[in-house]
Amino acid sequence: MILLKNCEVFAPEPVGKKDILLGGGIILAIENEISSSEVTRFGGEIIQAGGLRAVPGLIDGHVHIAGSGGEGGPATRTPELQLSQMLKGGVTTVIGLLGTDGFTRNLEAVLMKVKGLRAEGVSAWMMTGAYQIPTPTLLGDVGRDISLIEEIIGVGEIALSDHRSSEPTLNELIRLAVHARIGGMLGNKAGIVNVHMGDRENPFRLINEAVATTDLHFTQFLPTHCNRNKHIFNEAKKYGINGYIDLTSYPGTLGRNSVNAADGVMELLAAGVPLEHITTTSDGCGSMPIFDENGKFVKMGIGTPDAIYNTFKILVNKHKLPWEQALKVVSTNPANIYKLHGKGVLHPGKDADIILLDANTEIQFLLANGTLMVKNGHPIKKGTFEN
Ligand SMILES: [Zn+2]
Repeated sequence: MILLKNCEVFAPEPVGKKDILLGGGIILAIENEISSSEVTRFGGEIIQAGGLRAVPGLIDGHVHIAGSGGEGGPATRTPELQLSQMLKGGVTTVIGLLGTDGFTRNLEAVLMKVKGLRAEGVSAWMMTGAYQIPTPTLLGDVGRDISLIEEIIGVGEIALSDHRSSEPTLNELIRLAVHARIGGMLGNKAGIVNVHMGDRENPFRLINEAVATTDLHFTQFLPTHCNRNKHIFNEAKKYGINGYIDLTSYPGTLGRNSVNAADGVMELLAAGVPLEHITTTSDGCGSMPIFDENGKFVKMGIGTPDAIYNTFKILVNKHKLPWEQALKVVSTNPANIYKLHGKGVLHPGKDADIILLDANTEIQFLLANGTLMVKNGHPIKKGTFEN
């Protein structure tokens, strides 16, 4: 048991100064005053959290947890995600996936990495599939993977409008989305289709046609990298009225033409996109070219989950977006969209994924499934091979 004393709770809605009692991996109670003596009597730990804000752990829905890249040859394959990269960014839940490389990388490795991250104490799920259609699966069909394998909650990222896309026909995309949907129904999962939006004009065309000609809903799809260039972003402002929009929190800028994720959230809101439709992810472990302010290529970089935490900080500190709204973008919305029922809110009975932030929005404490992993600003837990 752990008792957090006197923290300002954003659940994400602000509920004032409270004590939070955690035990067995979940939130047991959030009350004005919970007795310390009872907790210490049972061997529990007390954390004095006065002056700190307690918020739900962040959820990064798009991380190449078993590595990705390789588009510049074998030497450009990126390494696996490390636990410390999650903790640094306040991320307590990741969703792993393959990407461009559905040929030499495989879903077995992603699934084992999900299990590995869970064993290290954080929460993880994954997507089946890769860029390509027909897309790789573990059991022969995306519907079978989603319905039968607990760790698999959807399919993606399927590439559209990109030189690396298999250029699926409308019918191919529809069949994939329908199988993902049925798999989701049978397995009580989101069954969502994560779509990689490439650089070309009109990347939303196929999704719009799929929705117009079938019973599929816009909410069946989660288009990502919608801020990679201005013309896609402008279309996203219209598409987002009905469908979900995921913005990639790039570590630098993705060239002159990309839109910063935090600025993008504000622009989407101004365009009338419902807050509940907007998420941001890091594309963690993806290879990313880093450009300077003039758009000049500097070096090859790697995405890391702390990019979504940076977006949160810009939203609340620079754009003055209320905390409860910014927290939806990085935690509550992905929990709802991916149907992660224990995540995204601080309520009794929910998973004890909590970060405690100081007045400078720096992480002082992090708890994942009730286990303390960052204490007084320092990680106290490391990945198996980290030192
Ligand atoms: Zn992608």
